Amino acid sequence: MDIFLKQRQIIHVDMDAFYASVEQRDNPNLQGKPVVVGGTPNSRGVASTCSYEARKYGIRSAMPLAEAERRCPQAIFLPVDIPKYYEVSQQIHRIFENYTPLVEPISLDEAFLDVTASLRLFGSAQMIALEIKNRIKEELKLTASVGLACNKFLAKLASDIQKPDGFVIINEEEIQAFLDPLPIERIWGVGPKTAEQLHKLNIRTIKDLKNIDEAFLRKKFGLSGSQLYYLARGIDKRPVEPGREAKSIGRETTFSEDLLDRETLQTYILGLSTDVGRKLRKGSFRAKTITLKVRLADFKTVSRSKTLESYTNLDQDIFREASLLFKDLQLKQPIRLIGVSVRNLTSGEIQQSLFETDNRDQEKLTKTIDTIKERFGENSITLARLLKKRD
Ligand SMILES: [Mg+2]
Repeated sequence: MDIFLKQRQIIHVDMDAFYASVEQRDNPNLQGKPVVVGGTPNSRGVASTCSYEARKYGIRSAMPLAEAERRCPQAIFLPVDIPKYYEVSQQIHRIFENYTPLVEPISLDEAFLDVTASLRLFGSAQMIALEIKNRIKEELKLTASVGLACNKFLAKLASDIQKPDGFVIINEEEIQAFLDPLPIERIWGVGPKTAEQLHKLNIRTIKDLKNIDEAFLRKKFGLSGSQLYYLARGIDKRPVEPGREAKSIGRETTFSEDLLDRETLQTYILGLSTDVGRKLRKGSFRAKTITLKVRLADFKTVSRSKTLESYTNLDQDIFREASLLFKDLQLKQPIRLIGVSVRNLTSGEIQQSLFETDNRDQEKLTKTIDTIKERFGENSITLARLLKKRD
């Protein structure tokens, strides 16, 4: 490995129970209580984030909300408020930007920072990492877990190992001792399937994995076999990519009974698209990529995306694309969950093409509808098709 890569200083910042912590911070009545962000428990949806108080009851993210309620009936269930979390996320990023322009957002609450070039200005990577953690606490009243190491793989492991409110540095000479006892599931890219295959070979810890030569792993797992070989040695050359756009806005719904009827499903897609459009406009965003996600009765999940020529925040554009993606899937199995999301976001007003007058009228109308909804409630204006669904 070349010397420069070994000397990189990468920080991984991961906010603790982010959505739930923001809600608890903003509402003192929620502090110290089990809070689950994700929606109401009588839906078939899943928990998005749960507070540490809720985790004591065994509630985890991605757990069905009904199950969460069974485990902790006194838990407080809240809807997901992406525009709010996005705003806080921007504030966190403003802190990061004081130290380096090399920030790669992974999600609203997680980012990698390459501070290698910032050391001369700020002293040491340790100081930068600690300062970021402290500023998040003091300025935003939120806790983050922070990891510092020579690459992304190790930095992420470091931030995770002492969660919440963690601060872990992995020095070069400690890398192997740190990795060896960890289960192979902790390796980036090892999902349940790969884990199972490795277990069959009697490989359970990273130390076990290190005893296997690269050629064998390559034969067995292809390119990701090589990756396993290197990660087991703490080697990860992936750069921090500041341009990467990982932010997305989405809505999904789990049906109380699996659904097959196309007409009904299209109506749901319309409703979800309208919600996503509304969220976009609320946060002053436009998006370019639209994704449709479908979970079948057997839990197999399929998703399809389409990237548009230009940015939009209109319900009808989102619906049109999501609906086409749905048609293209030609599903024959009943569906358990359906979701619409958008990514490739841009913020603020953007210049409209002179020829898009149609769109501009539509935008004015959409804005008016949003205003009416804000004033008179969510159900004051609804497309005729959605009314049918409510009946
Ligand atoms: Mg987090």
